[in-house]
Amino acid sequence: MILKDRIAVVTGAGSGIGRAGAMIMAREGAVVVIADRDQASGEVTASDIRAAGGQAEAIATDVADDTAVEQLIDGTLDKHGRIDILHNHAGIQVGGALTEVEVDGMDASWRINVRAQFLAARIVMPAMVAQGGGVILNTASNSGVFYDREMIAYATSKHAVVAMTRQMSLDYARHNVRVNALCPGWVDTPFNEPFIAQMGGRDAIETYVRTKIPMGRWASAEEIAEAILFLVSDRSSFMTGQALVIDGGESIG
Ligand code: NAD
Repeated sequence: MILKDRIAVVTGAGSGIGRAGAMIMAREGAVVVIADRDQASGEVTASDIRAAGGQAEAIATDVADDTAVEQLIDGTLDKHGRIDILHNHAGIQVGGALTEVEVDGMDASWRINVRAQFLAARIVMPAMVAQGGGVILNTASNSGVFYDREMIAYATSKHAVVAMTRQMSLDYARHNVRVNALCPGWVDTPFNEPFIAQMGGRDAIETYVRTKIPMGRWASAEEIAEAILFLVSDRSSFMTGQALVIDGGESIG
């Protein structure tokens, strides 16, 4: 139990990678606060953790809402007295090239993918400094370290997540707060359903993924959760300001 009794907050933990990360943190002994805008799926993750013998609670939170983010962090600090791990995971993908993306889509991408992470980290940081340290993990994407076509809103916001991570890590390293970015490539979660529909279904996407990714497949959320565990635990105790890419070689190929 390498996270025994640590208090963890995970946004977007009702589904996909966030859920798998929350499950593995709980398995390793963390008390996990599940924050998802979809209250029902957040409750399911929390009850699945409890059914497996772990400790979790769900707090319905839309990270686009400043007040909700403040209540999430302040409420967790009030209740548990500390936050050891903040995993800023909730995010959206708005696809399209410059002239295809609406201004609203750009605003939403930056609000949810960047601003919400900034805000949650900004609120939690004084507590982490006061308690002698902590870990912040910001979910970016391999789109945060390389470029692909028709990704202006997504790629620019995820590059900003990586930049923000590096900047935060520098400013708080002396306070023993480690800040890293998680950069997955293609992961088989509901996140990609719009893209699957656009491609023409499951068979088409499997062919696409086989062709595009050097390892010839996409990742499971559980594979990414192993990297999350590494990054939020003491196993990565001398690692800060890094963007860990887990993408089957896509960004190299
Ligand atoms: P998912 O769709 O399986 O789960 C996302 C969860 O986030 C959902 O439960 C959703 O309700 C929640 N959510 C969305 N907007 C929210 C908001 N405003 N406030 C609170 N909760 C919100 O997706 P996933 O695969 O876990 O991916 C989500 C994150 O991972 C995003 O940051 C995304 O950019 C990143 N990512 C995903 C992939 C992938 O292929 N799945 C690849 C790279 C990066």
